[in-house]
Amino acid sequence: MTSTATPAGDRAHSAAKRYIYGWGGGVAEGDSSMRDLLGGKGAGLAEMTNAGLPVPPGFTITTEACNDYFAAGGQLPEGLWADVLEAVHEVEVLTGKGFGNAADPLLVSVRSGAKFSMPGMMDTVLNLGLNEETLHGLVALTGNERFGWDAYRRFIQMFGRIVMDVKGERFDHALDAAKAAHGAAQDTDLDAAALKALAGEFKAIVLEDTGRAFPSDPLDQLDLATKAVFASWFGKRAMDYRNNQKIAHDLGTAVNVVTMVFGNMGDDSGTGVAFTRDPNTGEKVLYGEYLTNAQGEDVVAGIRTAPKINQMQTEMPAVYAEFVRIGEQLERHYRDVQDLEFTIERGKLYMLQTRSAKRTAAAAVKIAADLVDEGLITRDEALMRIEPAHVDQLLRDQFDPTARGAAVRIAKGLNASPGAAVGRAVFDADTAVEWVDRGERVVLVRVETSPDDFHGMAVAQGILTARGGATSHAAVVARQIGKPCVAGCHELAVDYRTKTATANDISFAEGDWISVDGSTGEVFVGALPTVSARFEDQPELQRILDWADEVRRMEVWTNADKPEEAAMARIYGAQGIGLCRTEHMFREGERLEIVRGAILVANVATRAKAKRAAGETLDADDAEAVATFDSAMAKLEVLQQGDFEGIFRAMDGLPVVIRLIDPPLHEFLPNLEEQLVKVTLAGDAASEEDRVLLATIKSMHEQNPMLGLRGCRLGLMIPDFVKVQTRAILNGLIAVKATGGHPKAKIMIPLVGHVNELSATKALLEAEAKAVEAAAGVEVEYVFGTMIEVPRGALTADEIAKHAAFFSFGTNDLTQMTFGYSRDDAEGGFLLKYVEDGILPVNPFQTLDDAVAGLMKMAVDKGRATRPDLELGICGEHGGDPESIAKCERIGLDYVSCSPFRVPVARLAAAQAVLTGPERDK
Ligand code: ADP
Ligand code: MG
Ligand code: MG
Repeated sequence: MTSTATPAGDRAHSAAKRYIYGWGGGVAEGDSSMRDLLGGKGAGLAEMTNAGLPVPPGFTITTEACNDYFAAGGQLPEGLWADVLEAVHEVEVLTGKGFGNAADPLLVSVRSGAKFSMPGMMDTVLNLGLNEETLHGLVALTGNERFGWDAYRRFIQMFGRIVMDVKGERFDHALDAAKAAHGAAQDTDLDAAALKALAGEFKAIVLEDTGRAFPSDPLDQLDLATKAVFASWFGKRAMDYRNNQKIAHDLGTAVNVVTMVFGNMGDDSGTGVAFTRDPNTGEKVLYGEYLTNAQGEDVVAGIRTAPKINQMQTEMPAVYAEFVRIGEQLERHYRDVQDLEFTIERGKLYMLQTRSAKRTAAAAVKIAADLVDEGLITRDEALMRIEPAHVDQLLRDQFDPTARGAAVRIAKGLNASPGAAVGRAVFDADTAVEWVDRGERVVLVRVETSPDDFHGMAVAQGILTARGGATSHAAVVARQIGKPCVAGCHELAVDYRTKTATANDISFAEGDWISVDGSTGEVFVGALPTVSARFEDQPELQRILDWADEVRRMEVWTNADKPEEAAMARIYGAQGIGLCRTEHMFREGERLEIVRGAILVANVATRAKAKRAAGETLDADDAEAVATFDSAMAKLEVLQQGDFEGIFRAMDGLPVVIRLIDPPLHEFLPNLEEQLVKVTLAGDAASEEDRVLLATIKSMHEQNPMLGLRGCRLGLMIPDFVKVQTRAILNGLIAVKATGGHPKAKIMIPLVGHVNELSATKALLEAEAKAVEAAAGVEVEYVFGTMIEVPRGALTADEIAKHAAFFSFGTNDLTQMTFGYSRDDAEGGFLLKYVEDGILPVNPFQTLDDAVAGLMKMAVDKGRATRPDLELGICGEHGGDPESIAKCERIGLDYVSCSPFRVPVARLAAAQAVLTGPERDK
């Protein structure tokens, strides 16, 4: 776009700094690059003016003035007011009108405008400059007395409420009373005399409530409105919004003073809001609403139902054509979809605002792809235009829009974790598990959740809580496990005793069907039909992710324990398995019994085997324990080999990292307390089996199991676990290869803190591998590596790398041990409070903490110093979190690994981590 004249490099100013940027007559002193100083709205008005678009003249008082105003303790900087007067005078010259001139009054709007558009900032005041004298000028010029009085009473109402803090309902009541007295159904039915009387009443209300007369001097009005805009920057709503959106508090807001244009001057006038494309679908059609004979705020306030914008085409074809052309011009200029505000005064179109449009996930993806096709943006820019959360949303099921439109809404809470969930309401976790076990689908409804509810959350379709915010336990866990969740639904009264919940006079009880929309926070009666969001059916998303693949440096792997999960992750684009947790296979069906059988005799059998190895002969008990143990382990080996073959086939040609057994063994045994109660209640009748089980559980009980006998420690104490798993992996490799497959296994040792733990485990494993190879008569290829998840392991990564071909950072444990928090206890307890109170900036289990990342970086450097080709990845849940992924990029990892449904998000996030894109509007 060309500007017709060079904006003044500087303008004369009385204040110490230049605080004013004007526009009008086709020239603006600012432009779109000056959002910091002029705010989004001011920069947009300047840019549109420079582009030759019809914008009513005006000026911006900069964000710097706002900051200096606060720095001076709520005083306008010296000289600023003189500069404002000069700017007003310029506008007077441009419009030929006079501020306060009764014959031909200049009226203005005063509009706040920060760098990011922000709810909570001061509302716009229209018609400023009106008083009893200028009003007569307005009436004389328009020949419309009713219009004049209507504008005036609106101004007193707006200014009174927004600038002078009079309660809005005071005016509303007076207006209602006037309507009742005149038998008027709508505001528009009140005549000039009635409006004049109302204006008098409004002024009386202002005097009564504030003790101050309504200001009649236009300059006083401007002074008060300007200060009110500044003051709103530190209003509570604005502060809360900035805290929530992580917007800095020192940006300040600008003030825009804009010549009024009137959309309410008759049927050749109007006002509207429009998007250059449909912000819901992304479709390339003008989308919006407009009202004839109305002023700006009427459309948004919904005073009348506004017709769709295309009706303007029939009513005002020439203006419509001009508007379409302007929309296209602005889209091309900003290279993005615009959200436009406009007013038509007696057939002439004026542009009042332009900004990048907020859009849904589906629209974001379609628009980005379309803009690339149209040559407006590059692929890299397209990638930066899509939020990782958008990708996530697109992969969640959604409610059928028609059914949803007709559904009865019970309540609305926080949209804590996206997706649509349908199930029968249950009010506690145990019931959830019971019902799911007998084939029901449930939604878990709680006042709030704690770690004790996890088992119920894990089996539920979705979660609904009455309390707790976006970082509450329910929200955090739901996002992690990918379940839809509505949290903090304050309207909902949950009664555990009667197992019912009520909101807005609608109740539901245990067993009733409800539908929960985690994307919008809504809860509906009944089971709404859903439409599944299949990745395969979203070519545009796939296209964008393909572009992401070209850009990103890190690979994206997945955490998958089963062939089905691996297959799904592959569809989503996973390039390997970064974590296959073998013990997850131990819990399925008959396996748990086999595993328990082995665990019960594991210690005795292991000691017996040691005796035998030392040349002793075993007594009958020992021999029996060994036989029981070996037989159970043999069964397990067969089953595990089958599992591994399945995974290798699903991931044919791609790497699979298999972690050897990690959790403490008591996790596979019944709960100590339950078993104790069982044996005690049975008394003498308790079975021998139950007594032995109880004794074993007691003997394995640990005070801090997460810091106890687990991971590589377990493998070293009971070497058969390592041996059996090694055999299962290697024989699985041999079997799959024999049938033409290309399995690639990486064996990973968990929880290494000392290099000797790794070397000892390695020796054990290699001996077993040799035995397998000898028996099969083939050589098997596998890679040996370790997790880095104990701080000591990270600190000694140079030594550890001597024995490991790869490191995978287990950032859950690493975070837990670096902070010294027990995650299970902390997240349900003090940790969320810490985040709420700002003691911690974020939950470090959700977003990688900088100190933990620092420890990782050190391990990376040390590891690579020993072994330059060391392969580095992350397999903690952080691997699917966009902010953490960016940190992994900076640390220099080779891949991130995350749960299958996070893979597409991670592909985008990894690309964005490489690109340093333009700052995005929040
Ligand atoms: P917001 O930031 O809430 O969108 P705006 O400052 O854009 O607030 O003002 C809201 C509406 O008020 C605008 O869309 C426009 O319709 C109307 N408006 C603002 N300034 C003027 C003006 N100078 N003349 C006519 N209408 C205006
Ligand atoms: Mg606006
Ligand atoms: Mg771990």
